[in-house]
Amino acid sequence: MGETHPAETPVIRVRGLHKSYGPLEVLKGVDLTAPRGHVISLIGSSGSGKSTLLRCCNLLEDSQAGEIQFEGEAVRWKGEGLRRHPSDRAQVTRIRTNLSMVFQQFNLWSHLTILQNVMEAPVTVMRRDPKEVEAKAREYLAKVGIADKADAWPAQLSGGQQQRAAIARALCMEPRALLFDEPTSALDPELEQEVIRVIRSLAEEGRTMVLVTHDMKLAADCSDHVIFLHQGRIEEEGPPAALFGQPKSERLRGFLSAST
Ligand code: ADP
Ligand code: MG
Repeated sequence: MGETHPAETPVIRVRGLHKSYGPLEVLKGVDLTAPRGHVISLIGSSGSGKSTLLRCCNLLEDSQAGEIQFEGEAVRWKGEGLRRHPSDRAQVTRIRTNLSMVFQQFNLWSHLTILQNVMEAPVTVMRRDPKEVEAKAREYLAKVGIADKADAWPAQLSGGQQQRAAIARALCMEPRALLFDEPTSALDPELEQEVIRVIRSLAEEGRTMVLVTHDMKLAADCSDHVIFLHQGRIEEEGPPAALFGQPKSERLRGFLSAST
């Protein structure tokens, strides 16, 4: 868990974000601040807008109103309402490559080895030196405990190993923050634990992360701050001890008793 440096510019800062899919308003004015070295967890029922918020943060989705800042740099928009979108492609690329996303489905390239999967974006998108990237890739594969799988194909790995490879791939971008969208929900319970161990170790290292999770124990143990979303609004937020220990909102109490 991170130390608090209140004066420091947060890695991600979202203010008053509104997001609609056509007539359906999914985010109704949401704020999120991810200070450097902190883990922010997003919890809430299915459909509450957690994935949408995460995808808006790294500009995989447009949003209709509100501000998004990356390390103090405000996203520049053009157009209004459903037509609003980022106006600066270079800025979008810079933000996206600095906020690596790990999805529920690991999405490894089946025709590339594990090592090639981890090296792919830094070499082809970021045009880094392949020799240096390979050394980094092997380091991150070792960190997630699958150094011996470098030359294997994705199909030869278990789900937990594939998800750890996806985490190594995200780390190899050397991003300023990692965004996890229910990274263990496609896994069997016993494989889930090996991925949770990796996420815990990244939190202990002081990495900046935004974590969407249905695992309340993980959220309670790893987070500096927890946000409970309900129908596109923040119903309650705070440090995990308060949120899980003394939930104020009736909806959060109901959600927590249903999740255990
Ligand atoms: P969560 O991750 O909390 O389960 P989501 O952010 O995935 O919730 O979805 C929030 C709401 O937005 C849901 O009602 C969902 O059906 C809707 N939604 C998500 N993605 C799309 C999309 N691409 N088009 C239309 N509606 C969507
Ligand atoms: Mg989701």
